[in-house]
Amino acid sequence: MATLATACLLLSGCSRPTAAGQPQPASAGATSSSAPSSATSPAPSSPAAGSPAPSNPAPSSPAAPGTSAPKQLAAKPGQVVVLDPGHNGGNAANPTAINRQVPAGRGQTKECDTTGTATNAGYSEHAFTWDVSLRVRTALTAKGYQVVLTRQDDTSVGPCVDERAGIGNRANAAAVVSIHADGSLTSGAHGFHVAYPNPPVNAAQGAPTTRLANTLRDAMVAAGFPTANYIGSNGLDGRADLAGLNLSEQPKVLVECGNMRDSAEASTLSSAEGRQRYADAIASAIASYLG
Ligand SMILES: [Zn+2]
Repeated sequence: MATLATACLLLSGCSRPTAAGQPQPASAGATSSSAPSSATSPAPSSPAAGSPAPSNPAPSSPAAPGTSAPKQLAAKPGQVVVLDPGHNGGNAANPTAINRQVPAGRGQTKECDTTGTATNAGYSEHAFTWDVSLRVRTALTAKGYQVVLTRQDDTSVGPCVDERAGIGNRANAAAVVSIHADGSLTSGAHGFHVAYPNPPVNAAQGAPTTRLANTLRDAMVAAGFPTANYIGSNGLDGRADLAGLNLSEQPKVLVECGNMRDSAEASTLSSAEGRQRYADAIASAIASYLG
């Protein structure tokens, strides 16, 4: 936590008003209320008649890397992709908001969100997931897919895990991918794994999700990333405790791209080149899955 707090202080958004009295609904709501414009209206009917379905190219994210003018190819109808960058930069400074209980599916509740992990050098998971998600969005937008992000910046709080699932559901997403990196302290633990809901609680979580998980696993392997040697099996891990997956009514998986606490893997996770490789593999998998 100390490391996270230190890392957090280095990030611009973390010093934003901690407003102890400013409860989570305000911050979470700010995210949610800004999200719907893109989250629930994947194909906003722009008054600019004739313009092809815009894919929300970073409305106002000055710090968005790799988002320069995505090509506006014809969007593929019905193929909305929701990307869910894990955690958020404001989480660490807002424990009250983050620790509140929210529905987690399967009759359970769970904390709204967590701070996420970091490399030993202090590079945070939330920054990683944000950067990779923007890169994936750029790649998919260039292919003509409509892409919705579950959060709009890397400085806010949340949204909560149940809302992250809700965004995918309301967008009627053809595929949802949650992007994370792990923080195992087990010596030698490294590699990626793809978590999927198991046992499934609806039809989307059955065969479609299994195929999405396998497609993503295969793309990561093809890109040269090793499967995790400390969790799951052959790069896959069926889970019943992840709210964002439990509550999804669309095909949704969560990829832990690597272990941030492993020194070798941390260097890949921390480099722009490494993040582009992860993004390319994830975008390739989603495009392959959607066909
Ligand atoms: Zn995470």
